[in-house]
Amino acid sequence: MEVDVTVSDQPDTYDVIVLGAGPTGENIVGRAVAGGLTAAIVEKHLAGGECSYYACVPSKALLRPMDLAAEVARVPGLSLGPVDAGAVLERRDKAIGDLDDSGQVGWVEGVPAAFVRGHGRLAGPRRVEVTTPDGGVRTLVARHAVAIATGSAPAIPDVPGLREARPWTNREATTAKQVPRRLVVIGGGVVACELAQALRFLGAEETTMLVRGRRLLGRTEPFAGELVAEAMRAAGIDVRFGESPARVERPVPGGPVTVHTASGARIEADEILVAAGRELAVHDIGLETVGLTPDGPIKVDDSLRVVGVPGGWLYAAGDVNGRNLLTHMGKYQARVCGDVIVARAKGLPDDAPGLRAIADGLGAPQVIFTDPQVAAAGRTEEQARAEGFRVRVVEYDLANVTGAYLLGDGYTGRAKAVVDEERRVLLGVTFVGPGVGELIHAATIAITGEVPLDRLWHAVPSFPTVSEVWLRLLEEYGL
Ligand SMILES: Cc1cc2nc3c(=O)[nH]c(=O)nc-3n(C[C@H](O)[C@H](O)[C@H](O)COP(=O)(O)OP(=O)(O)OC[C@H]3O[C@@H](n4cnc5c(N)ncnc54)[C@H](O)[C@@H]3O)c2cc1C
Repeated sequence: MEVDVTVSDQPDTYDVIVLGAGPTGENIVGRAVAGGLTAAIVEKHLAGGECSYYACVPSKALLRPMDLAAEVARVPGLSLGPVDAGAVLERRDKAIGDLDDSGQVGWVEGVPAAFVRGHGRLAGPRRVEVTTPDGGVRTLVARHAVAIATGSAPAIPDVPGLREARPWTNREATTAKQVPRRLVVIGGGVVACELAQALRFLGAEETTMLVRGRRLLGRTEPFAGELVAEAMRAAGIDVRFGESPARVERPVPGGPVTVHTASGARIEADEILVAAGRELAVHDIGLETVGLTPDGPIKVDDSLRVVGVPGGWLYAAGDVNGRNLLTHMGKYQARVCGDVIVARAKGLPDDAPGLRAIADGLGAPQVIFTDPQVAAAGRTEEQARAEGFRVRVVEYDLANVTGAYLLGDGYTGRAKAVVDEERRVLLGVTFVGPGVGELIHAATIAITGEVPLDRLWHAVPSFPTVSEVWLRLLEEYGL
């Protein structure tokens, strides 16, 4: 459906044009219009982007039963029957609106902004050409700014036979109508771990993970990947480190797939899921027409303005600039980007503190919804040392916190804080354990606010909550 809402004095001329209606693009439009500008947003697939249909939302809907079942199993006196995978998939379908984006299109129109369905490409300064679903071409002109928010897509490694085998990516896995009994997962990052665990719980009895490196979740503190790997193995997932596919065969489309690994193993499966990183959506968006080369993340400054474009009218936010591939960080950048475009369009000062995406450089907060969960904010110890900070580290076993013990028998988890010894403030915090996702915002506030440890000491956590780990970490530090 193409909805043509012209909210400007000249048809197809807007103050701001946004390419891509994912969470980032939608938020840029929302802020720009709230600031008094007119805007159009171009979307080639579904308004709401990867996050709403193929990423955050469906993956968390698929993971929730596993989480809950593990929690129930830790409390004597409670029990659950076998999981009804069909019911879980149905609830997932509801969460993704059955891949119908009319609600999100309606939201855009209500902003109000023009929603234009089609593939958009830059066509020189301040111009965007849209190839519409009927094959027509429509040209949009921006008075002030164009913002690129085209996101990212799954990367498929160059392995003989892999593409021909039509592997699952996050898109097929998160919208699956059936759970394969035998599954091979390629990758050891967040998407690989979350989806392997979710599908294993929902019925993938033989799940094998081929992890090229020596650990899972390579961007987190090493103990996080170790605890998740232990839990995966305990759940029956065959996690193989230092292993990768060398050749893939699927003679009959939709039939069984055979994976020959680099070490010479042969694995038969019903499905193969590739979760080996993301490719930023920088191709086929006309970057060449404004003198840029699409050979990596679009380089931006802290106001999200693209570096090296005369006139300073081009912005890029969200996954596509490679700063932090997370929905909440894309939306954060979008708020900054929308507001800074408004300030510049109105000739207002553009250097207020809210007009710079400084949080990008502090280490993004992130929750990984595996069992156990991993929640981290700020820098890891390794990152902090590499940046030259004088670092001290404290760790604590979460099982020793009364609040954690009361959550259930066998609660396993760990906390680590990275302290900048010069200023005695936190640089990073990582929690691993069931339900720790809800703990992380306190860390985000302490890190972003650069709260001195001596002050943090007076932030008293309630008894008996897991948050008492904060007190234990400070005691370990010596307060
Ligand atoms: C399985 C999985 C789970 C995830 N879970 C989480 C999570 O729990 N929490 C979290 O914070 N992050 C999560 N992420 C990351 C998150 O999905 C992304 O960071 C987020 O979607 C990025 O938003 P975006 O708006 O920048 O890009 P996208 O969501 O990719 O949206 C970009 C939009 O632009 C459109 N587009 C692209 N090119 C064009 C063009 N030329 N013309 C018109 N339209 C175009 C696309 O169709 C798309 O709709 C997950 C990712 C995956 C893969």
